[in-house]
Amino acid sequence: MSDAITIHGSCHCGDITFQAEADPARVVICHCTDCQKMSGGPYRSIVQVKEDAFRLLSGEAKPYFKVGDSGNRRELSFCANCGSHLYATSVVEDVPKGQRMLGIRTGLLDEVAQLAPRSQVWCQSRVPWADDISSLPGTARQP
Ligand SMILES: [Zn+2]
Ligand SMILES: [Zn+2]
Repeated sequence: MSDAITIHGSCHCGDITFQAEADPARVVICHCTDCQKMSGGPYRSIVQVKEDAFRLLSGEAKPYFKVGDSGNRRELSFCANCGSHLYATSVVEDVPKGQRMLGIRTGLLDEVAQLAPRSQVWCQSRVPWADDISSLPGTARQP
């Protein structure tokens, strides 16, 4: 991970802050229906980080367990106060704590602009208009 950068994240209310070492090549967009449902958006952007390279600086993440589209049990982590989604990972029954990969939601990160996605997964449930929003008229702020 020679190209690793330090990422700094926080939830919306600020209770939870964290830091991690991340490889910018490991950013994916996930179009799975769980990401759509849980984010409330059409897809989600995620950076994969090793659990031992993740450091929670403040707050306490609340876990939520689900069975993913993949059929695997997943542990999702979010802020119990503001509801911001932090990451998804394997359950400790499948992968020992400390050795898991955390799929951190890149919208939490100060470095989100540097973390351009490199690939997409679960394209079978991708919304058809997601391919080209760059051609839509835009304003710098809410009009
Ligand atoms: Zn929060
Ligand atoms: Zn997903």
